[in-house]
Amino acid sequence: MTINYSKAYRNPEISRSLAAQIKATCNRPIRLMEVCGTHTMAIFRHGIRSLLPDDISLLSGPGCPVCVTAQADIDAFVALARREQVIIATFGDLMRVPGSGSSLQKESAAGADVRVVYSPMDAVRLARENLHKKVVFLGVGFETTAPTIGAAMMMARQYELENFFVYSAHKTVPPALAALMANPDVRIDGFILPGHVSVIIGTRAYQPFFDAFRLPCVVTGFEPVDILQGVLQLVQMLAQGTPGLANAYPRAVTDEGNAQARQVMTQVFTPCDAPWRGLGVIPGSGLALGGAFAVFDAVAHFDLQVTETPEPKGCACGEILCGTKTPSQCTLFRNVCTPMNPVGPCMVSSEGTCAAYYRFST
Ligand code: SF4
Repeated sequence: MTINYSKAYRNPEISRSLAAQIKATCNRPIRLMEVCGTHTMAIFRHGIRSLLPDDISLLSGPGCPVCVTAQADIDAFVALARREQVIIATFGDLMRVPGSGSSLQKESAAGADVRVVYSPMDAVRLARENLHKKVVFLGVGFETTAPTIGAAMMMARQYELENFFVYSAHKTVPPALAALMANPDVRIDGFILPGHVSVIIGTRAYQPFFDAFRLPCVVTGFEPVDILQGVLQLVQMLAQGTPGLANAYPRAVTDEGNAQARQVMTQVFTPCDAPWRGLGVIPGSGLALGGAFAVFDAVAHFDLQVTETPEPKGCACGEILCGTKTPSQCTLFRNVCTPMNPVGPCMVSSEGTCAAYYRFST
């Protein structure tokens, strides 16, 4: 049953009541994965773990877009930044992610023109203001950000810009869930599904995954009551042996999602196989630029060779993104790898699991 808590999603009394119900219902050790990095941060920030019984393990999943971006893509971003007459436009999280030999931040310090933007529309504006240069927006994100980047390309098309490009490293969530389940080392009893991705794709997008694996799945939001309500529904499904696909975030998520945003995605992108850090190449999980929008493709325009490169030695980001290790099981955590000196992307990103553990756990 979904309870509509309306505006009471930060009410401590409701949180305590939900936590008590979870404790009373949980009848065995269970492992729940919060797929999304925003959930990981929210769970730490609100102290949700301290409210749950020891029998419930919360695992972080592959839902931080910067963290799952393949090392080869990071290296390609660096290679692009080194090109003459190129302006790189990127969200800030990517700046410090270490590639094989450099990072965007280091390239910027060495003289490359790398600009942090807050919206892909800012990158379009940069292109209009710098017609003698080529502006490349680094498209990293899931279904949440892809529509806005698609809309930016539509805008660039209207302006007939010939100096605006997008490196599309976008990924989609449902194929990653199936890829996780194919990994024999992964043990998950239920999924806390991402609220913001689901605003766009709707709960129905998970139906094929649910039908294939019959694991409890609940879409939920990011406030304490949202998260606890999602956990309670998962625990109830497991206790009763009645797995389901539920929506504990009805104030934002519908069955069908945002039709307009999905239409933009369909117009601009076409599914492709994509490499994920930790999960390898997942068929149909990427978003390439398609049709009339292929002209914006930075990889094709700059004839970039994106080849597989090894991940940082000793870094366990891959296992952490699959929920088979926690940051404290990485030998580099805290002693070598810190937010000031990140070895892997999970320590850099504001949604990274290692960054969350570093900041909130002792
Ligand atoms: Fe990688 Fe650092 Fe996390 Fe270890 S602590 S997995 S090195 S990001």
